[in-house]
Amino acid sequence: MDLAKLQALTPNFSWERFFHEVGFPEISTVDVGQPDFLAEVNRELASVPLDDWKTYLRWHLVDDAAPSLSSKFVQENFEFKGRTLQGTKEILPRWKRCVAATDRQLGFALGKIYVEQYFPPEAKARADQMVHNLIAALHDDLSTLPWMGPETRKAALAKLDAFTPKIGYPDKWRDYSAFKVDRGPYVLNALRGDQFEFNRDLKKIGKPVDRTEWGMTPPTVNAYYNAEKNEIVFPAGILQPPFFNAQADDALNYGGIGAVIGHEMTHGFDDEGRKFDAQGNLKNWWTPEDLKNFNQRAACVEKQFDGYVVEGDIHENGKLVLGESIADLGGLTIAYKAFEKSLEGKSRPGSIDGFTPEQRLFLSWARVWAANDRPEFERLMVNLNPHALDRFRAIAAPSNMPAFAKAFDCKHGDAMVRPDDQTCEIW
Ligand SMILES: [Zn+2]
Repeated sequence: MDLAKLQALTPNFSWERFFHEVGFPEISTVDVGQPDFLAEVNRELASVPLDDWKTYLRWHLVDDAAPSLSSKFVQENFEFKGRTLQGTKEILPRWKRCVAATDRQLGFALGKIYVEQYFPPEAKARADQMVHNLIAALHDDLSTLPWMGPETRKAALAKLDAFTPKIGYPDKWRDYSAFKVDRGPYVLNALRGDQFEFNRDLKKIGKPVDRTEWGMTPPTVNAYYNAEKNEIVFPAGILQPPFFNAQADDALNYGGIGAVIGHEMTHGFDDEGRKFDAQGNLKNWWTPEDLKNFNQRAACVEKQFDGYVVEGDIHENGKLVLGESIADLGGLTIAYKAFEKSLEGKSRPGSIDGFTPEQRLFLSWARVWAANDRPEFERLMVNLNPHALDRFRAIAAPSNMPAFAKAFDCKHGDAMVRPDDQTCEIW
């Protein structure tokens, strides 16, 4: 919307003045994702008393700033958000909170030091190789999938070829010189950090998309697929045990980071990814027939997760965790295929610690999800988190895979073998 249209949507709020106050008077168009929201805010600006607005905004300011204020605020914030909501018994030690805050606000400065110390070139080279092998395995898979039509298959392969993998850390480091950190009050440093990010984002308006930018800092133990850039991103933080170990055997790495790489890649081809083309533009490239086939197979996964009981009458919400659970199943399947492919033409590796390579691959997958959650935390997560609880992620994908049953000599009727008519397969 141009400014005139936006202003017509919210006559009670002056956008011109707002953009001027925040230092960006030149903003002339805005992508309004939720027009209904703004219409409602406009209505309430007139109907809710000014004093209530002041209370509401003050409360938000204090609530947001609480973790950076004096210890009474910090403690009270923890009492509710940590203890009551999540069942956490004690607040993290101060040094861990400081490291997390530094990563949040100066993550690419911290990350530069982090990768120098903990992410050697050998690790990057081996991770590069794994991503390459996983892409090759997904290429084979997309070429032979029974449910995808020929046109869509062609587009899928073109999209895979256009993937940008980012591994470890960005090519260029962020310039923080506009962020003033001093020895004054901590909360003011934190607020200036927020301001710095706000300004950095708004300065992008009207400029070409920076495809080199990263959405996670290098020390982050996580990964992502970004549909708008058609990229898969693996920060150095996740390229360490239990996900990845440059010194370990391939089986261990394929079951860990290999499955994570596969997980992120399949997001490019699922019910979200289908809405974006190879360049990251919002453009559906599936036929109605492909979507029907996909949804039919997805329903199997939804049912599987609805069946996982968390506690009492609380169970996983299959609809909520569907996309991520499909990615887990696809990721582990593709990682397994990539591992088998990597063994072709070589002499078979022997057992280690009494486990075959295939067994080690699946054990590595399970170990990635070894966690210990409080019941309060689990109750919160099943309502909010599009990922299933770790204890279900550990067992869900392998129990659908004939390769798992084969690796551990499981029979029909065993706990980790789903009945034939309930076995889910998508990728
Ligand atoms: Zn995911």
